[in-house]
Amino acid sequence: MALKIVADLCTSCGDCEPECPTVSIKPKKGVYFINPDTCTECDGDADSPKCMDICEVDDCIVYA
Ligand code: SF4
Ligand code: SF4
Repeated sequence: MALKIVADLCTSCGDCEPECPTVSIKPKKGVYFINPDTCTECDGDADSPKCMDICEVDDCIVYA
């Protein structure tokens, strides 16, 4: 149960980082990375995953 960031598409804008309720998104090697051990896919929220909603790059954040 985790999402992942496609490193080749991530522009490192950082918009997703503060949106994550589980603090699972961190910068790593110049792009951003989702910790699969703590990402809950925003389970329980009515909306779709918050990071996916905020990221403006198509298909940058996908289901792992
Ligand atoms: S799906 Fe939710 S919990 Fe997982 S990284 Fe995105 S914002 Fe964080
Ligand atoms: S919002 Fe998208 S492009 Fe911006 S840092 Fe997050 S994953 Fe990368």
